Amino acid sequence: MSKRVFIAALGTETNQFVPFPTDLAAFAEYGIWRGDATRHPPTSFTGPLHVWRREAEARGWTVIEGLATFASPSGTTVRAVYEGFREEILAGIRAAMPLDAVLLNVHGAMVADGYDDCEGDLLSHVRAIVGPTVAVGAEFDLHCHLTQLMLDSADVLVGYKEYPHTDPMERAAELFAIVADTVMGKVRPVMVRHDCRMIAQYRTSVPPIDEFVRRMKSFEGRDGILSVSLSHGFAFADVEDVGTRTLVVADGDRTKAEALARQLGRELWDNRERYATRYLTVEQAMEAAGRHNQGTLVLADRADNPGSGAPGDSTFLLQALIQRRLGPTLFGVMWDPQALKVAQAAGEGATLTMRLGGKAGAVSGMPVDLEVTVHRLARDVRQPYGPVMAPLGDMALLKSEHVDIAINGLRTQTFHADAFRAVGAEPTDYRTVVVKSAQHFYNGFAGLAREVLYVASPGAADPDVTRLPYRKRRTPFWPKVADPWA
Ligand SMILES: [Zn+2]
Repeated sequence: MSKRVFIAALGTETNQFVPFPTDLAAFAEYGIWRGDATRHPPTSFTGPLHVWRREAEARGWTVIEGLATFASPSGTTVRAVYEGFREEILAGIRAAMPLDAVLLNVHGAMVADGYDDCEGDLLSHVRAIVGPTVAVGAEFDLHCHLTQLMLDSADVLVGYKEYPHTDPMERAAELFAIVADTVMGKVRPVMVRHDCRMIAQYRTSVPPIDEFVRRMKSFEGRDGILSVSLSHGFAFADVEDVGTRTLVVADGDRTKAEALARQLGRELWDNRERYATRYLTVEQAMEAAGRHNQGTLVLADRADNPGSGAPGDSTFLLQALIQRRLGPTLFGVMWDPQALKVAQAAGEGATLTMRLGGKAGAVSGMPVDLEVTVHRLARDVRQPYGPVMAPLGDMALLKSEHVDIAINGLRTQTFHADAFRAVGAEPTDYRTVVVKSAQHFYNGFAGLAREVLYVASPGAADPDVTRLPYRKRRTPFWPKVADPWA
């Protein structure tokens, strides 16, 4: 008889240090598909559903498709919004029974009001409905809180291996293959996670941590190991399970899974100084910018990356740039819809004093009052992000005595130099360019930058995790503690 598989997707990455909620509109902005995501072009989040449908239909299986929705990273999700989406997925599963498999695409760092672990909660509800014999699999973003409830509720979990995330489709196919083998009784997955006692950021696209990605892959598909993941963790949440974990899925052999999860966790620990991304303080960044005298230096304002849920209007680096007077300097793209309206009302060529940034809350620092000239206005700007064009909303370029500032109306990170070009600023005309992004900007700027440096200013996505106000994590972690294993 034809096997029956239910597929759905629900996710967002929750930054609990920003003062605004993720509401229904935040999901609607990105897309809410009710059973028809695979009839539309794939997005970064619905792509795995396309893969699962293709793989299932190739085997002659019946696909029942449920809800698929995702919101851009932001603050804590509204409780009723999470509960409503969860009930939609569960109702879809109840209606689709009997099932042989359930596949969910989740993020892994979704926090809702009253729910520190949305994915564990969702998966445990799924398990309660389908019972112990239906294969339950989930794909997760490596910026994830990998909880024991997730492991206890699913048969197979597979995470992205690459940051930037270039591999969700490959991982979706791997997850499907393991789940299909589980349904056919060919394998019996057991999963073990290992807490590395680290909270750090890792960029797998640059050496040396790419060697760790290859190392994980080298174990897969042989000697009873089905899958190996590294959950980098998402530092900007106050949940018990915040931090980096290895995950091993083995065929029937828990001891083997445990041993490899621990071994790889130890290898990561031994290489922590090499693998973790290094950040400059604001002061160090200003000194580096002062020394820089050839070509363009790009500074990544990591702590205010809207892609990590941060507001995108922090002023810590802007204030430092104004004080330092570094020569031609470009700053942005800063999210400030209020200032944008003022600039649009004043019009191109107008000179006025404006209050810029620092509006979202304490994580954004103080607003900056500055005399500026409205150099250029632009409507409905788009910038390349990999193969797609990502919206920036309306923009303005404001010129001041020491810094040119690009502002916009839609909260998003700066992916590409074209974002600045849209308002008449050519990044290579500047000695210093500051972008509000953690890493996704890299491909859009690396070609024109003489040097790229990563800065840890304070903020909602502060990479100096020793400054973050965690209350729920119980076990010690590096770098807060030099040796959390002592
Ligand atoms: Zn991620």
